Amino acid sequence: MDIKLYNTMSRSIETFKPINEGEVSIYTCGPTVYHFAHIGNLRTYVSQDIMKRMFLANGYKVKHIMNITDVGHLTSDGDTGEDKMEKGSKREGRSVWDIAKYYTDIFMNDISDLNILSATKYTPATQYIQEQIDLVKKLEDRGYTYKIENDGIYYDTSKFADYGKLGGQNLDELKAGARVDFSNGKKNIADFALWKFSPTNEKRQMEWDSPWGIGFPGWHIECSAMCLSEIGDRLDIHSGGVDHIKVHHTNEIAQVEPVVGHKWVNYWVHMEFLNDVSGKMSKSNGEFLTLSLLKEKGYSALVYRYFLLLASYRTQLTFSYELLDGAKKSYENIVKKVADIIKSSTKDYDKFVFEEWKTKILETLNNDLNTAGSIVILQDILKSDMDANTKLKLIEFFDEILGLEFIDSAKSLLNVNIPDNIKELAKLRWFAKQNKDYAKADELKQQIINHGFQVEDKKDGFDIKKIS
Ligand code: AMP
Ligand code: ZN
Repeated sequence: MDIKLYNTMSRSIETFKPINEGEVSIYTCGPTVYHFAHIGNLRTYVSQDIMKRMFLANGYKVKHIMNITDVGHLTSDGDTGEDKMEKGSKREGRSVWDIAKYYTDIFMNDISDLNILSATKYTPATQYIQEQIDLVKKLEDRGYTYKIENDGIYYDTSKFADYGKLGGQNLDELKAGARVDFSNGKKNIADFALWKFSPTNEKRQMEWDSPWGIGFPGWHIECSAMCLSEIGDRLDIHSGGVDHIKVHHTNEIAQVEPVVGHKWVNYWVHMEFLNDVSGKMSKSNGEFLTLSLLKEKGYSALVYRYFLLLASYRTQLTFSYELLDGAKKSYENIVKKVADIIKSSTKDYDKFVFEEWKTKILETLNNDLNTAGSIVILQDILKSDMDANTKLKLIEFFDEILGLEFIDSAKSLLNVNIPDNIKELAKLRWFAKQNKDYAKADELKQQIINHGFQVEDKKDGFDIKKIS
């Protein structure tokens, strides 16, 4: 079955063709772990999760790498300003390493709550310093770099003929439109730092030796270096939020293609923003919208996920509690109907009807991740006079592709006797297992048993039962 995805590079919907038959490599830009992720950031990861689930449902083997930015992301895109991590450290009076660990853990918890499948590997930038230095060295050997005294090693964008192609920017336009002073020593408006020197008057908490002097890598080089190191010189899909198109991803291409000598990424898939009523979701203005805040206000992570899936990943979405209330009502309605179906279903289902609908659902999702369209099909199925067993089998398939845990939520509704603390312990155990912390997972399992319950793992989650 064809898979259609919008490719930012060609500005059109294309039929996906993998580099290797039956396999897909995906690199997604991960969080900068200096603060909580806001629910806008989380929208991007949910959209990417749908993309991944869509490939899995089509039988693809998925290799997914996500970086964790724990160094080098400055507060200004112009390579000035503070390092976000050092800023976080000052704000909270803890070391940058503590900040990185703390916010990485919270991020992992958030994505687990949102039922986002784990990446094949998470790669913190600080664990790939040598790879980043090596890549800068290769660019230097090929004549793409220059040094700005007391500042860093910069990329000379005039050397790369294709610079700006992804964002449809042409170098002459960039120059003409720029009212920039070059007193900082940059040769071209779009030039960017590959390696920044540590300030002479201050010791940074994170700094490394390099052929150019003590310092730290620029933000863009980390993704290029980790992607090359973990996936290789050809990548099926590179993805991030739309804000990455014109700078971060544009710079990534400029860093890689002169070194590998050919096209690097086949599909650039960008996720649209979630805005708040003020226009832009921010970590510094107004109410900081986090997943925990939504949970405190009584919205589960799955309700938030459902709210997101009602829109296309390519349209901007404005967050409001009214819209979230509507999504909550609709999600709970589906769950109630699923609970009724569970009560009246037995095991056998109609394979022919199942396959027919499954194809229809997958065709919809394969059409540039049309989640809203697939939810309409789900509503049609729930309303239809199809037998309960086949309905249930199809709902299982919806859970696989949309990750909305309709069946688990319906079972919890039927099994209201499971106390919240047991559900929480089971979640922590699942999280520990995802992180391959089996000792902790076993310890939590035992605690659950001691309370008279047991957890059973399934392909994509777990069930909790009372020990009879
Ligand atoms: P950051 O932690 O700032 O590096 O961002 C993490 C991811 O969230 C990136 O892929 C960004 O493009 C994306 N992002 C940032 N703001 C938003 C937003 N308001 N809505 C959706 N995605 C966003
Ligand atoms: Zn990146």
